Amino acid sequence: GFADSNYICFPYETRRTGVYAAGCVRQPLTMDACEEDARGAVLKAVQCIEAAGHGVAVHPRSGDRSYPVFNFVRCTQCKRCTEECPFGALDDDEKGTPKPNPARCRRCGTCFGACPERVISFANYNIDQIGSMIREVQVPKDFKKEGPRILILACENDAYPALDMAGMRRKAWSPYCRVIPVRCLGSVNAIWVSDAMSKGFDGVMLLGCKYGDDYQCHFVKGSEICNRRKENIAETLNRLGVQPERVDQLEVAIDEYDKVPDLIDGFVARITALGPNPFKGM
Ligand code: SF4
Ligand code: SF4
Repeated sequence: GFADSNYICFPYETRRTGVYAAGCVRQPLTMDACEEDARGAVLKAVQCIEAAGHGVAVHPRSGDRSYPVFNFVRCTQCKRCTEECPFGALDDDEKGTPKPNPARCRRCGTCFGACPERVISFANYNIDQIGSMIREVQVPKDFKKEGPRILILACENDAYPALDMAGMRRKAWSPYCRVIPVRCLGSVNAIWVSDAMSKGFDGVMLLGCKYGDDYQCHFVKGSEICNRRKENIAETLNRLGVQPERVDQLEVAIDEYDKVPDLIDGFVARITALGPNPFKGM
């Protein structure tokens, strides 16, 4: 009943914080391999007990003291946060009001990405923080003369380090992109995309981990959930008369930095062919 949480980076960890699996519980193994596995799981359990004692998160956000805070006055009890939390860290009462369980929480932000009322926040990560960063980017009005502007919301676990490594290797891509790191694509709230579109950005690229059966998302379902939400975003854009192709989600693993320039330049070329965002300059 405790599915794995990230088979590449955290092989012993299950999706229930504090429960670690070892040996044949995980996969068929020889006795020697089981012993080694058990040692790894025990070390992870020791780290977890220490983290809980200090009131901080376990990996991947090791040491993070923040946790989601809910402004219940505006909560509509829609249950989206409880349904989308990948780690079962939110229970709900009979009315549907979320009941946070900070000891299980991994601080991924998927709940706040899900909340249509935007009532969930962290002391060190919140809707207004990223929204303000988006609104502060200078977007020129003249598309023909000054080119498009593309916002890249990049997952800080894989995509952002991949961009970093590509940069350190002197790889180059379109100068029209502005990158903002996010905790996980699961934490992307649709309001950020609307903010970017009303600001005049011509396209928004959501750059994150692989999803599906061989997922690489460090928060299990974040990038998959983001892809599902993208369909709702596309409907909203359609209603506003903005081409939904202006928002796309692309996958990159941490070691695929070679792929980064083509991925970005391909998206910029598609947006350039679409022309300016109809909201530009309004
Ligand atoms: S931050 Fe992540 S783990 Fe914590 S309650 Fe929200 S969705 Fe669940
Ligand atoms: S998603 Fe937001 S509005 Fe819905 S139950 Fe959770 S906190 Fe309340």
